[in-house]
Amino acid sequence: MEASLGIQMDEPMAFSPLRDRFQADDSSKKYEHNFKLPGVKKDIEKLYEAVPQLGNVFKIKDKIGEGTFSSVYLATAQLQVGSEEKIALKHLIPTSHPIRIAAELQCLTEAGGQDNVMGVKYCFRKNDHVVIAMPYLEHESFLDILNSLSFQEVREYMFNLFKALKRIHHFGIVHRDVKPSNFLYNRRLKKYALVDFGLAQGTHDTKIELLKFVQSEAQQESCSRNKAHVSTENKISLSGSAPKEPDLRSATKTSVKRPYANAQIQIKQGKDGKLVKQSKTVDVISRKLAKKKTVSTKVVNSGVIKKTASSCPTSLTCDCYATDKVCTICLSRHQQVAPRAGTPGFRAPEVLTKCPNQTTAIDMWSAGVIFLSLLSGRYPFYKASDDLTALAQIMTIRGSRETIQAAKTFGKSILCSKEIPAQDLRKLCERLRGQPSNAPALTSDTQGRASPDPASSEKTDQKASYLVQTSRAQPLGNSPYEGDSRGYGNRFHECPANLEGWGEVPDEAYDLLDKLLDLNPASRITAEEALLHPFFKDMSL
Ligand code: ADP
Ligand code: MG
Ligand code: ZN
Repeated sequence: MEASLGIQMDEPMAFSPLRDRFQADDSSKKYEHNFKLPGVKKDIEKLYEAVPQLGNVFKIKDKIGEGTFSSVYLATAQLQVGSEEKIALKHLIPTSHPIRIAAELQCLTEAGGQDNVMGVKYCFRKNDHVVIAMPYLEHESFLDILNSLSFQEVREYMFNLFKALKRIHHFGIVHRDVKPSNFLYNRRLKKYALVDFGLAQGTHDTKIELLKFVQSEAQQESCSRNKAHVSTENKISLSGSAPKEPDLRSATKTSVKRPYANAQIQIKQGKDGKLVKQSKTVDVISRKLAKKKTVSTKVVNSGVIKKTASSCPTSLTCDCYATDKVCTICLSRHQQVAPRAGTPGFRAPEVLTKCPNQTTAIDMWSAGVIFLSLLSGRYPFYKASDDLTALAQIMTIRGSRETIQAAKTFGKSILCSKEIPAQDLRKLCERLRGQPSNAPALTSDTQGRASPDPASSEKTDQKASYLVQTSRAQPLGNSPYEGDSRGYGNRFHECPANLEGWGEVPDEAYDLLDKLLDLNPASRITAEEALLHPFFKDMSL
């Protein structure tokens, strides 16, 4: 495994001795595939062109995922005559920072391959194109199976998720994007795999060397903010939008009433939780209006980065190229500023408020949100397109006073114009489960006006977004999950509902959920502790 991060040009990287068993394909065959969409066919052709050595080893069959920072393909590899192996090929966007790419790879090579953490077989590179080849795990769509899972399956799912999280946390990896589309589940084989270390960061004592060089989002944002505009306030920007609130606030007055419009939330960072002077209240509506501005700010930023990257082609062939070291040239390169934030609905309160020291506890919160979906039958549970809306939605479940109190412990002051009581988790889940739907429980958009944010929804999550668009009974007000059941009858999932075990959900389930959704990261349950929780009493590692 030594020098495993040196990405070789024009040939597969030898992560395993199996390499020589690959038989080179007849290259004339490589464009013969069964295509579903012309766009996919084009993408596959482009990938073969960008990384031609792939054609010697793989037949790329289909595109199975597309996110902001990568596209994933299903391919087959001819190992020996007659035996084909399915491989997932992750093609990272060429503008990704080399350290970011190498760190993602290092997470897979060092922590992956066991305990439900995806491993890696090979890596290919040509110029700025990097393709990671992983074992393919066929998996279900979370939304499709959500309401057909028996209670026992839910226990097994969560247990296996904690097993994966225990492993990566042991390596000092904070995944930062734990959600169903990054935790692959093969129901038939009872196999699980945590994937996608594209957002991962290291703890202070991380064992993943390269994560030490990956800038945290908070650092990135403060850096970009300082560059973008001078801000003398110590105000925590909720999305990095330019401080042009007067216009936005006047626009707010004319806007229609929307959920959370009344709950004005503001976050400030101050010493000992004290508020900093000159505060302005930003409500969710103005945040939504501010979005356009935010986007344009980000476009400018990423434009700058792109330009930097393309104007310095020599940086690709610096001292550290094809070695397992990162040279000073690479370390001094600007990191990508476009925030690689996880999905707002899965982000912990300390992430939403941009607390600078984030720990592995943020992944446990995300696991809690998945558990909340499993227990309530609603996915996505929180459907928020921005952090402030997500925070408001958390308050509707965990209580505004409780959220404010917890935020104080990590140095953040949240102002909320309205007091929202905490919900009893069992009552909440049972009420939601009683409604015949797997539509999202909480959404920031009103009935018939849903506009899922394409930037934040992955291909694998699009069905959920579709549900948001088509569901007639969109929640309203501050208790949106209580919306009536009109329109919830549509069953988009293929599996029949499974009532097994749901009649007597033990208190342990809600106790674990409560400990995962602990607003205070310092007291939130760890993966190791969760595995020992009474909820899993008869299960063994
Ligand atoms: P992104 O950073 O673009 O989200 P991911 O690594 O999460 O990339 O992969 C995107 C999607 O591709 C996943 O949600 C999953 O559906 C599919 N995928 C990724 N890795 C594998 C794999 N090893 N086996 C099967 N499918 C995979
Ligand atoms: Mg992903
Ligand atoms: Zn270098």
